[in-house]
Amino acid sequence: MSQPVRQLEVVSAGADARPRPFNDAGEADNGNGHRNGKPKLPTIGGEVVDPAEVSAEVEKLDAADAIGWVIERFHPELYFALSFQKTSSVTVDLAHRIEPRARFFYLDTELLFPETYETRDRLAEHYGIEFERFAGISVAAQAERHGANLWRRDPDACCAIRKVEVMHQALSGMQCWVSGIRRVDSETRAGAPKFSWDKRFGLWKLNPLADWDDKRVWTYIKDHHVPYNPLHDQGYPSIGCMPCTSKAEGGNARAGRWAGTDRTECGING
Ligand code: SF4
Repeated sequence: MSQPVRQLEVVSAGADARPRPFNDAGEADNGNGHRNGKPKLPTIGGEVVDPAEVSAEVEKLDAADAIGWVIERFHPELYFALSFQKTSSVTVDLAHRIEPRARFFYLDTELLFPETYETRDRLAEHYGIEFERFAGISVAAQAERHGANLWRRDPDACCAIRKVEVMHQALSGMQCWVSGIRRVDSETRAGAPKFSWDKRFGLWKLNPLADWDDKRVWTYIKDHHVPYNPLHDQGYPSIGCMPCTSKAEGGNARAGRWAGTDRTECGING
């Protein structure tokens, strides 16, 4: 019998949400990157460690072992971020096999494709997982304050409000988060390490699929019968918010995100 699907309404960034740039100068802010006005130090088990050394150690591990490594050290202060693209399907399956109580969350911009929400629900039912939902101000409130279709006029501001601000809320109190980014995604991700200290949010970050290509992702999904986003079958290599995602034939896997602009990232992964 299938498990009931329940999406947790966790945090709203609130009515006063504003774009909040990361403060590299070490000045006090409300985000996760600093504490008491000082940058947080990279620690594991209470010990300050050298991120380069730890990164080199985790780089040798395959995806399952790397996920097991962070679960052992950081769970339950470990959060798997999901976009409900094909990589999320792999990550959920890998993590759930190792730790059924692994914690997953997603940023609901309220502008995701219906197929993406359906994929969320199919994964939740398949694994009996509760995905924790984080959302900022409503699209209507954003339009009231910043004008309609902000994503067309100022996507930086739109992503800052609907994604980056909310991500700070989601990662507050966590020691490590897990992303689905891969080196084959784009030039800007080509050098992504498997494990590193994420200065932007002030915690560790694992990219367990960093060295996976499309073939490996699809082989895993098919071999393990994992639910996946049907938009991939319709020609979308990368899937984000509806207004900023197209099929965009040619180019790298993320060429369809903010197509026709120089924009490549929303501010969470780069
Ligand atoms: Fe806004 Fe587009 Fe960024 Fe989504 S991807 S938050 S719609 S600018």
